[in-house]
Amino acid sequence: MSEPLLRIEDLWVRYQTERATNYAVNGVSLSLDKGENLGLVGETGAGKTTVALSILRLLPQKTGIVDRGSIWFDGQELLSLSQSDMRAIRGNKISMIFQDPMTSLNPVLTVGEQIAEVIMLHSSKTQKHEVQQRVDEILQMVGIPAARKQEYPHQFSGGMKQRVVIAIAIACNPMLLIADEPTTALDVTIQAQVLEMMDALKRTLQTSMLLITHDLGIVAQMCDKVAIMYSGEIVEYGRVEDVFEATERHPYTQGLFGSIPSLTGNVRRLNPIGGQMTDPANLPAGCKFHPRCPKCMERCKTEEPAVVDRTGHRIKCHLYT
Ligand code: SF4
Repeated sequence: MSEPLLRIEDLWVRYQTERATNYAVNGVSLSLDKGENLGLVGETGAGKTTVALSILRLLPQKTGIVDRGSIWFDGQELLSLSQSDMRAIRGNKISMIFQDPMTSLNPVLTVGEQIAEVIMLHSSKTQKHEVQQRVDEILQMVGIPAARKQEYPHQFSGGMKQRVVIAIAIACNPMLLIADEPTTALDVTIQAQVLEMMDALKRTLQTSMLLITHDLGIVAQMCDKVAIMYSGEIVEYGRVEDVFEATERHPYTQGLFGSIPSLTGNVRRLNPIGGQMTDPANLPAGCKFHPRCPKCMERCKTEEPAVVDRTGHRIKCHLYT
C-alpha cells in the first residue's frame, strides 16, 4: 500500500497560560489518502481546529505546545521542518479555508489582486498576463465571472465572498485543503451551493480535504472517512459508510446522530446530548465522555477505554472491549 498523503500519529497538544493548562488534543491519530476527504466532527471545543492549526504549524507561538506526536505529509515530517520550509508548504501544498470569509479577505485589495498575490508568491508564474490568465481561470472554477476580479470584497455577498476565499485557497492547486466550518457563516441555500461547488472542485483538482464540521449531513455528502472527536480524542473513526451504517457506535456518535432531525422517521423530539463539553483544563479520569454518557458503567469512571479496531472502524469505548 502506498503511503497516505497525511498521517498524524499520536498527537498531543496543550495550551499553556499562566492560569491554566488546557489539554486540547490528546493522542490523535488519523490518515488521509490522495484525493480523499476526511470529516473531522465534534462540538465546539473538541480540538478539531487545534488539529488543523498543528498541521499548518500555526498554533499560537507562546501558548500552543505540541507535547508529542508526528505529522507526516507527502513524505515529510512537518513538526520537524524549519519555518522557511514550512512557509513553502503553506498555501502551496496545503491551504486552509476559514469559517468567516470576512476575516480571511483583505478589504483594501480587489479580489483579483488577492488571488494574484498568492499565485505570484507560490508559483513560477511571474509574467503579468500569465498570472491574470490564472486568476480568470480560478474565478471561473469557483463560479465567479472573471470580470468581477476588479471588485472589492465588500461588493460580494456572503456566499460569493466564501467562493473568493476558496479561489485563493486553490490558487496554487494544493494537495491538501483544510476547510474549517467553511459554510457555517452562510445561509442554508448558499451553504448547499458552496458545498456542491467544493465537491465538484475536489473531483476536478483531485485535492484531498480535511473538512472540519459539526454537521454529519455535510460529512455524508462530502466525505470518504470520518473522525468523531470528543475532548481532544478521536472516539470513533472509519469509512463513512461503516460509521453511518454501523449497529455498534460510540455513545457520543450515537448522540450526534440523535440530534439530527429525521425527515422520514416518526420522531417527535430530537435527543440532544445532555450536559456540556468537558473542561480541557480539568479532564475527568477514565472515559472523558463518562459524565454525559447514558451508558456509563462503573469502570468508565476510572479506566480509560482502549481503542477497538474492526477492519479500520475504530471505537474507543468499554462497551466494545
Ligand atoms: Fe460511555 Fe463508558 Fe463507552 Fe465512555 S467508555 S462512551 S462512558 S460506555
